[in-house]
Amino acid sequence: MKLHEYQSKQLFSQHGIPIPRGRVAMTAAEARTITEELGGRAVIKAQVLVGGRGKAGGIRLAGSPEEAEELATQVLGMRIKDMPVRKILVDEAAEIQTEIYLGVANDRAARVPVMIASVEGGIDIEEVARKDPERIVRVWVDPFLGLREYQARNLASSMELPRQLWSEFARIASGLFKTFLDVDATLAEINPLVITHTGQLLALDGKIILDDNALYRHPGLADMRDVDEEAASEREARKYGLSYVKLDGDIGCMVNGAGLAMATMDVIKSMGGEPANFLDVGGGAAAEKVAAALQIILSDENVRSILLNIFGGITRCDEVARGILMALEGVRREVPMVIRLVGTNEEEGRKILAEADLPTAASLNEAARMAIAASRVEAVG
Ligand code: GDP
Ligand code: MN
Repeated sequence: MKLHEYQSKQLFSQHGIPIPRGRVAMTAAEARTITEELGGRAVIKAQVLVGGRGKAGGIRLAGSPEEAEELATQVLGMRIKDMPVRKILVDEAAEIQTEIYLGVANDRAARVPVMIASVEGGIDIEEVARKDPERIVRVWVDPFLGLREYQARNLASSMELPRQLWSEFARIASGLFKTFLDVDATLAEINPLVITHTGQLLALDGKIILDDNALYRHPGLADMRDVDEEAASEREARKYGLSYVKLDGDIGCMVNGAGLAMATMDVIKSMGGEPANFLDVGGGAAAEKVAAALQIILSDENVRSILLNIFGGITRCDEVARGILMALEGVRREVPMVIRLVGTNEEEGRKILAEADLPTAASLNEAARMAIAASRVEAVG
């Protein structure tokens, strides 16, 4: 789950990281009032859960409350990477000398968190990583010891920060690491952490991604979820406890088990098809869960055929078959469907489907071939 910039910065601030004064606004009039409160100059920042807002024109500098109102009107009318801007953050404008990148993520290979820093921060950090990888410095952090002061100082010295900023930088780095641990984040990032013209460090932007599997430990953070920013299909999937990720292809997939779901997608791709989604209905999928899953797949208008791959262990095949029939009541049936059903009660499941004129396949390869062929027939017709 991604947090907005303003939410991330609030969490940073609670961990002692300096952030600009400012507030969230929903209207241009509010933006004007906030800018007056801030002394007449402000940055207007679109709050959308996608990167590259700056490049898209979603970060604007206003020199007066009137200008703030005007720019806020523009930004609130924008769509950034297809997401409408509903909220803006109005922050005190900073005068920037240097933009630093500072982030923490898990290094899965090293099995510990890694703190990453670069003095070439700002909006083009990906470019720096590609062209000047030596300009990016890292320290690996033992989660039980936390970030040690000397590690933070090593980062500061490798980046050649002015010496008088080292202890403040170490304090901020330590606050960022604590934030990362406290909220069970998979990413906590400040980009840019700026040195202002008066030589102060200030976190101008913030990004936190929370680990969904740890959200149950943080009811307060789970409430920060911005449902407006999610695809409706992903919202529905969460409601029914389904793991669903929308993709760009045209073959809808419904599978029980994450590993089998990935294997199914691999088989489709190896045969020249493109999966429209990842969907794991989980073990013991009851009829209504299967029905919800089908509805979600069918709500994606790119879907031209559907492949169901069910291995009946805990999930009984007859139960799944009934779920499919239930789901088909009241949804568009012009999307062809191929079903591979093996395991517990498979005979009974197949019989139920055959009676309803739904094709079953003997193997996964055959099912994938049929689903791909069906998607192409539809595309022509
Ligand atoms: P992002 O593009 O979504 O990463 O948004 P950021 O909040 O990082 O802003 C992008 C860029 O806008 C920063 O790298 C800065 O160069 C600039 N920027 C953001 N806030 C301010 C500010 O208060 N003053 C000035 N002068 N520039 C800012
Ligand atoms: Mn940024």
